[in-house]
Amino acid sequence: METIDLTTLRNFSRRTGQATHPELLDARPMEHVNKIEIDEEHVTIEFDEKTTRYYNANEIVKREWVYKYNDDPEFVKAVAKVIEVARKHLKDLPDNVACPPGCAECCSGYEPFVSRADVQRIADHLGMSYADVMREYVVNRPSADGFHVGWLRKVSEDLSDKCVFLMGSRSGRYYCGIYEARPHDCGDFTPIGCDDVDESLSHKGEYKTGAPFKPNRKRGRGKRL
Ligand code: SF4
Ligand code: SF4
Repeated sequence: METIDLTTLRNFSRRTGQATHPELLDARPMEHVNKIEIDEEHVTIEFDEKTTRYYNANEIVKREWVYKYNDDPEFVKAVAKVIEVARKHLKDLPDNVACPPGCAECCSGYEPFVSRADVQRIADHLGMSYADVMREYVVNRPSADGFHVGWLRKVSEDLSDKCVFLMGSRSGRYYCGIYEARPHDCGDFTPIGCDDVDESLSHKGEYKTGAPFKPNRKRGRGKRL
């Protein structure tokens, strides 16, 4: 994998008003780039602005972004380099990729990291306080850069066990109990190249998920179906 040193962007950001730290740079538009054109004045990027993932189809809104670089060509060269790498790695991405409905194998054995924003969103969704969500559902392990505050708990101490928010175990088909508020780590997860897929499940047919996750205020940890 190719690595780019984004720290040089800091030199330019003071003058241009761009993000002052690489982590703050909004690189999301670069994640689904379809086309890039670079001429002497502009970088033009066509990308998928919004992908709505349904269980067996993706709805994609496309957009074009033109960056005019006048007195900061080096900044744009750096951005263009990042985009080139993104394009190189994602150019084979098909428009419509989806997991078989009910699979969720990756919701076991994988710890989604959560940021403060993720925890707050889950707290708002469940009608709980930030502190309660941290205590009940998050293993408190701040990352070195302070961005992540920990990862979501499993239903047991075994890290290969199911995510505490995974629902549907009785039916054998699973779904996320906090889907609208799930961590960015989960939303960004992709089935491309996934080896853990439950191949016994079909992509066809409707899959009706059940009730959402409800916190169990008496016992803590919450109610799973
Ligand atoms: S196909 Fe892979 S990525 Fe999709 S739900 Fe199953 S295990 Fe997760
Ligand atoms: S929050 Fe939802 S999507 Fe994320 S691991 Fe848990 S059950 Fe899966």
